Amino acid sequence: MQTLPSTWRASRGIATLGVIAAAACGISQQQEVELGANTAAQVNAELPLVRDAALNNYMTSLGNQLVAATDSRGLSWHFTIVDSREINAFAVPGGWVYVNRGLIERATTMSELAGVLGHEIAHITRRHSVQQIQQAQGANVGVALLCTLTSACQSGAGQAAINVGGSALFAKFSRSDEAEADADAVATTIRAGISPEGVPSMFQILLDERKSNPDRLSAFFASHPLEEERIEMTRAEIARHPASQVQRLTRDTPAFQSFRRRLMSLPPSPKTTR
Ligand SMILES: [Zn+2]
Repeated sequence: MQTLPSTWRASRGIATLGVIAAAACGISQQQEVELGANTAAQVNAELPLVRDAALNNYMTSLGNQLVAATDSRGLSWHFTIVDSREINAFAVPGGWVYVNRGLIERATTMSELAGVLGHEIAHITRRHSVQQIQQAQGANVGVALLCTLTSACQSGAGQAAINVGGSALFAKFSRSDEAEADADAVATTIRAGISPEGVPSMFQILLDERKSNPDRLSAFFASHPLEEERIEMTRAEIARHPASQVQRLTRDTPAFQSFRRRLMSLPPSPKTTR
């Protein structure tokens, strides 16, 4: 995370201090949702989004199917497709999940996309980013993160931060955060009636893609370190459930395949995205 120029700190110091004070005292759900809404507004202004109503409806219904199986905090959720070839997905605190078109087009079955959504939903329900902010407490990393999380930073520095943020804002989740989100993705898909096999299956697709096309995945791997180990761990997690139960769950649907075909038929994504 970059530190901000001192001019920015001088002019925005008061607002920043206020947010840091809030961070030090613990961030309430209301504050989390406000921070998330501000961040999402910036992300939505900064990144090219897929505006097709049918595609967005499908993403939202699949996302809500998973949310219904896991969210106990009653958040209001938003699922958005970023019109980018880069393979990435990220979560904004408070209920905003973004998946790049490039990732969705790599998914071969509904359960693979569901696994990604389940993982990103878990970062939000577990408040992984919020905990990072609370722990940062006044360190420069905290200032930079808060800058991207609030509308306090309308300066050039703030814009640079959100540029980074589109791909790596909620970067550097710990290995334990990632493992927790993976385990949640398995549990959530099962509870939603969807095969959890999509979780390791999507990881395998991404690892294979990294070998052939490393640049396309740099953003994803920056925020979601992914090694063979995570495939093994999610397979072990799945093995804790009766095989007969897992095999009955839905792997794919015609609705997902028509969603994917429609997405792939759109004009090419703009080139200058992050
Ligand atoms: Zn993650």
